Amino acid sequence: QKFVYDFTEGNKDLKDLLGGKGANLAEMTNLGLPVPPGFTITTEACKVYLDSGTEPVALRDEVSAHLEALEKQMGKKLGQADDPLLVSVRSGAKFSMPGMMDTVLNIGLSDASVAGLAAQAGEERFAWDSYRRLIQMFGKTVLGVDGDLFEEALDEAKRAKGVTTDVELAAADLQRLVEEFKAIVAKETGRDFPQEPREQMDLAIRAVFDSWNGDRAKLYRRQERIPGDLGTAVNICSMVFGNLGPDSGTGVAFTRDPASGHQGVYGDYLQNAQGEDVVAGIRNTVPLADLERIDKASYDQLMQIMETLETHYKDLCDIEFTIERGKLWMLQTRVGKRTAGAAFRIATQLVDQGLIDEAEALQRVTGGQLAQLMFPRFDEKAKTELLGRGIAASPGAAVGKAVFDSYTAVKWSRSGEKVILIRRETNPDDLDGMIASEGILTSRGGKTSHAAVVARGMGKTCVCGAEELEVDTKRRRMTAPGGVVIEEGEVVSIDGSTGKVYLGEVPVVPSPVVEYFEGRERGADSTDELVQAVHRMMTYADGGRRLQVRANADNAEDAARARRFGAQGIGLCRTEHMFLGERREMVERLILADTDAERDEALGALLPLQKADFVELFEAMDGLPVTVRLLDPPLHEFLPDITDLSVRVALAEARREPHENELRLLQAVHKLHEQNPMLGLRGVRLGLVIPGLFAMQVRAIAEASAERVAAGGDPRAEIMIPLVGTVQELEIVREEAERVIAEVEAATGTGLKLPLGTMIELPRAALTAGQIAEAAEFFSFGTNDLTQTVWGFSRDDVEASFFTAYLEKGIFGVSPFETIDRDGVGSLVRSAVKAGRATRPDLKLGVCGEHGGDPESVHFFHEVGLDYVSCSPFRIPVARLEAGRAAA
Ligand code: ADP
Ligand code: MG
Ligand code: MG
Repeated sequence: QKFVYDFTEGNKDLKDLLGGKGANLAEMTNLGLPVPPGFTITTEACKVYLDSGTEPVALRDEVSAHLEALEKQMGKKLGQADDPLLVSVRSGAKFSMPGMMDTVLNIGLSDASVAGLAAQAGEERFAWDSYRRLIQMFGKTVLGVDGDLFEEALDEAKRAKGVTTDVELAAADLQRLVEEFKAIVAKETGRDFPQEPREQMDLAIRAVFDSWNGDRAKLYRRQERIPGDLGTAVNICSMVFGNLGPDSGTGVAFTRDPASGHQGVYGDYLQNAQGEDVVAGIRNTVPLADLERIDKASYDQLMQIMETLETHYKDLCDIEFTIERGKLWMLQTRVGKRTAGAAFRIATQLVDQGLIDEAEALQRVTGGQLAQLMFPRFDEKAKTELLGRGIAASPGAAVGKAVFDSYTAVKWSRSGEKVILIRRETNPDDLDGMIASEGILTSRGGKTSHAAVVARGMGKTCVCGAEELEVDTKRRRMTAPGGVVIEEGEVVSIDGSTGKVYLGEVPVVPSPVVEYFEGRERGADSTDELVQAVHRMMTYADGGRRLQVRANADNAEDAARARRFGAQGIGLCRTEHMFLGERREMVERLILADTDAERDEALGALLPLQKADFVELFEAMDGLPVTVRLLDPPLHEFLPDITDLSVRVALAEARREPHENELRLLQAVHKLHEQNPMLGLRGVRLGLVIPGLFAMQVRAIAEASAERVAAGGDPRAEIMIPLVGTVQELEIVREEAERVIAEVEAATGTGLKLPLGTMIELPRAALTAGQIAEAAEFFSFGTNDLTQTVWGFSRDDVEASFFTAYLEKGIFGVSPFETIDRDGVGSLVRSAVKAGRATRPDLKLGVCGEHGGDPESVHFFHEVGLDYVSCSPFRIPVARLEAGRAAA
């Protein structure tokens, strides 16, 4: 096993082994760019060290061999007294972790070689400056000395001299500072600063290895979900000096603006400075454009190199460079991070430049980025008063009056108020309060807390776990650090993209991207560059994707929006809302019916209402499929709460008031009560035990279709049966449905095509999909219930109880309710697809769970060959984009 690679041996694809920095230094070297020679110690060596506590045995000799070669090439030896070779020892992991790990510059300087360096450079000051930097950096990062001690000594030296910047310190001042720094090291560590160059280098290498497990690095990795066992590479790079005087300097640059994507000259430059000085902000940098005036030759060369890099990497790159006495050196490059907006713009710009094709452009953006661009934002120019900060759980900008319970949230929102629901944490009882709110703020819980998960599902803004805010729901108030108290009714603003909570109303601006999807903003010829870019990317995605995208929508309004957003039909129309509100009473009558006549009457009352709903919906989706799911939830959901009802009955009894109706209801509720309602009387089971229920729904669909046909429309309803576990259930329902449809056809004189299919949401359905396909013209995978039943997880409970622990222990990286579990649930889907199609080759296949709008899951559904995904209207653009990316 080889542990060390010369820069000439690596390339950009070896990031696993050489880290990002090492791989790209090698790539630039091989492109013929001016990179100071050096070599890279692999992440494998680091892993051995981290696992065993010592460097691999072979490492020392390999480093010696590469160092010797480097010394030969440079014509001087590391730390050589009369002309020292100096190197930097730099960390560099596979994923960039800016500033998280350690780098030490000027390794090789010592009491013996500092004079040699001065003589060679003809610059006394520079040599002492470099030496004091070495002791400072080495002391801090390798020997663990408190960095402030050096900073204080440096400040003191400046004060003594009456100057403000370090460049004003002369050679003699710096020489004195070196002595002080050495004294600090000796005092703090009980040993002298190591004078032996190779020892300096070896200690620095080990310090870089160790920095992989530093607290900062660990925290960063957890946040960014970077695995903890990758290790870091170490780059040994011969030093070039930006601190050799005004004709030297150091800078950073981007090949284009990472915020807007615009091409141009973006970066900062600092004369007479080394390494970190630019980002450390110790002296004011100048804009990169000024370099043209300072050193035109280097500037021109840099511009040329940036173009070379962009053309080579075919992407935005960021760069670190140093100029040593008019000679330009490249010290780092990588494909640069960018904002969501810039990602879209850059992708289309690169297409225009002919650097990438449309398929590649689609790989440069994500559905997550598109979702970010669709949320309204707080106006960046607004003045704000920050109350505190929590976890950015679900993006968006929400403003409203503070309310501390769901009841108030619902009440106030009904009277037209905008509210922010503030709770310590939420639970399923808060659902209507959450729905009624503009946004949700909690003081407890993380990214997988109930509030966060539900809010994301609803596309609602949420900040959770804002622990510095003390929420007192009893007294209806919240206290911010510093003692600011927010009472119920006071306005707050929460930013779900940053986790910040503000006092008062921060003005928001709607996202131009949503305006575009809504059709209020033009696409190709929009004046907004971002809209233009999004439009183009959507066009690429739509042009290439195989998966169709449908919407989950229950009413005409949602359907119309979904259509504007590009939905190709409705994949899931839930009918339960058609049983709520004023209709609840009729449902009660249905449930309480003692005789066939009573029941038929109750159903008869519901029929015209259902029909009217469908007529509207089919009209909004004219010409496109609408999959209507027959009633699914357990009946008790339509009845009053058992405790409320008991109280009502008891009160009435005590007051000797008539309460016959309540009593009957209470008996019914008791009868319908189930320990596990989600596994109880619901879905197709309802249709089988409540005579006439499904028949009424089918009749409403059929009559609505006939009415639309008569009106010259093109209705395309599909009837979907939920919670089927065996083909027998489906056969019984099918027989009845066909009879009803035939009746409507005869009565209206209209031929109707109403495909009948089923949800696959129970493991048994998936396992017997081949049989079920005999009675089903389509399958729609209900991956919410399927996940619930395959894992044995109650969706309504587990997120709040043990998911956080599961995520922390790494049992799964993401909730299986958020992203489909490929290995478990996914494998059932895969086999059901196969079995279903074997029985019925033209079987239509879709998915209508939350997963239908989840980027990673969309890729899975593409792979297994579904025909469509269905998701909430707001997620449709994301699903379209991801379907396009999956096919590209
Ligand atoms: P980071 O990953 O934190 O950016 P780097 O390893 O890139 O750390 O180094 C820190 C700073 O030192 C950077 O500004 C870099 O350009 C500079 N630097 C690193 N190696 C050398 C070198 N051989 N010569 C001159 N400057 C260097
Ligand atoms: Mg760097
Ligand atoms: Mg279901």
